[in-house]
Amino acid sequence: MQRIRGNARRYPDGFGEAHPLTGLMYCADCGGKMYVHRTYNGKRVPQYTCGQYGKYPIGSLCPTQHRIKAEAVLTLIADMLRAIAEYSKNDRAEFIRTVQETQAAQQTADISKKRKRLAAAQKRAGELERLICKIYEDNVLGKLPDARYEALDAQYAKEQDALNAEITELEKAVTGYEQSRKSAEKFIALIDKYENFDTLTNTMLNEFVEKILVHERARKGSQDTTQEVEIYFNFVGRYMNSSYYDLRGKIVQAERRIATLTEREEMWAQYNKYKPIRKQLAKVKPEKRELFEQRHSRELILYDAAARYLKELKDSGEEITPKAWQREIDLLTAQKQVDTIDMKAMREELKAVERLRKAADPLARQGQDKPRDRGPER
Ligand SMILES: [Zn+2]
Repeated sequence: MQRIRGNARRYPDGFGEAHPLTGLMYCADCGGKMYVHRTYNGKRVPQYTCGQYGKYPIGSLCPTQHRIKAEAVLTLIADMLRAIAEYSKNDRAEFIRTVQETQAAQQTADISKKRKRLAAAQKRAGELERLICKIYEDNVLGKLPDARYEALDAQYAKEQDALNAEITELEKAVTGYEQSRKSAEKFIALIDKYENFDTLTNTMLNEFVEKILVHERARKGSQDTTQEVEIYFNFVGRYMNSSYYDLRGKIVQAERRIATLTEREEMWAQYNKYKPIRKQLAKVKPEKRELFEQRHSRELILYDAAARYLKELKDSGEEITPKAWQREIDLLTAQKQVDTIDMKAMREELKAVERLRKAADPLARQGQDKPRDRGPER
């Protein structure tokens, strides 16, 4: 789908410029462009509605307005980009794999086979070309009878046609794979570029977002309902599924919290373990103190470190509640397990969708194709 941003409708309302989302927003039901309205109920709240809905007779081209606040869409995009950036930072290898997996149209093994076949087919095409010239010359020079020439020529032409068709298909597959590999790389580079961003800029919108599909609210007219919004990113399409990254973000957050709480627990345990030594030290007679300190220096250092850690924690406003920490760790761990299972299931689902799409694409293309050209003239 081509994106045209030049012809955005402008309103003489003081904003002066087109809203940054204009040209990216499409109605999920009728495919029509969505246009911004700057005021709603007397308030300045930019909202988008489907442009087809209002066309006369109203509702005939698109049944509903698909009204959505621009701010909600911008927030969603920013949240998704943050979640993706976070994911890419926390698990680089897996992120790259996911981008490529959801993105690449072909398997690497399959593609290297296709590359080999392409080279062989091109070589054979060259041979055929020479053979065709040779029998033509032989025929002209009287070395090859007409009947024999015609039979051979027809046979070579047939092979050449089949070969040309195959070469076209293989070239398409190979370039398609290379493009998809490159676009996965581009997307990752883009994510790195904007790893820590405060506000979503117009430049970022342009670089990341290909299009946004807006569905109607689950219960129309209700403010308190869900409204599905599909964001298609440049290079990688829709497969950067938002709920997947929400879940991934939640898991990463839980992991961090668990790490923090575990550290507190360890410090608490360390504090208690060496506390008796510290108490003993207090009771040691002054002349034996130095010897005791030397003998127990390691324990005393560990005690001091833990005591300092716990004091700083208390000073920062946290309470020292080891039992509550453990309860929270248990809860988070259980939730994390559930989320991880969900996330894996979702990944399988995405893979299945991708496989379906791969299977469906050639079928759709076959339906659209015009009869193929017969290949180069001889
Ligand atoms: Zn519509």
